[in-house]
Amino acid sequence: MTTVQQTKRKLLSEDWYRHTASGVELLVSDCNTCGHRWFPPRSACSSCASEDLTRTHTGARGIAYASSKVHVGGAPWPKEYVLSYIDIDGVRVLMHTNSDQALTPDTPVTIALGHIGTDNATELWSYIAHPVGKDIESPEATS
Ligand SMILES: [Zn+2]
Repeated sequence: MTTVQQTKRKLLSEDWYRHTASGVELLVSDCNTCGHRWFPPRSACSSCASEDLTRTHTGARGIAYASSKVHVGGAPWPKEYVLSYIDIDGVRVLMHTNSDQALTPDTPVTIALGHIGTDNATELWSYIAHPVGKDIESPEATS
C-alpha cells in the first residue's frame, strides 16, 4: 500500500498580485500628480505625498537589474537561495528567484508563483522571478 502525503501550501502577500494565464501581475499604484509608480501598492505617493493614485497591474515579464545568492538563510527560508531586483513595467521589485546562481543583469524573467520557503510542514509560495525558458512549478494544491 502506498501512502500519498498531502503537502499544504500557503500563498503570501496575495493582495499584492493576481495570477493570470501569462503569469503573475503585480498590483501597483500610479501617482496621478507626479507620475511615480509604486509596488507594493500604497495610499499616498512616497515622492510627492499626493493621495491621487490609481491602482493598476504590471505585466508578467521583467528583466533582472541585479541579483545575489544568499548563503545564510534562516527558517522559514532555505539555507541558500537567490534574490533579484527585477525591473517590471516601471517598478523595481526584490524577489526570490528560481535559479541556483545569481542572474546576469538584463536576464529576461517571467513573474510566476513559486515555492520560497517552508514553515513547519507548510510550503510558502509567493511571486518569484523565473528566468525565461526555465520550467515553472504549478501552484495547484494551494490551500
Ligand atoms: Zn507623486
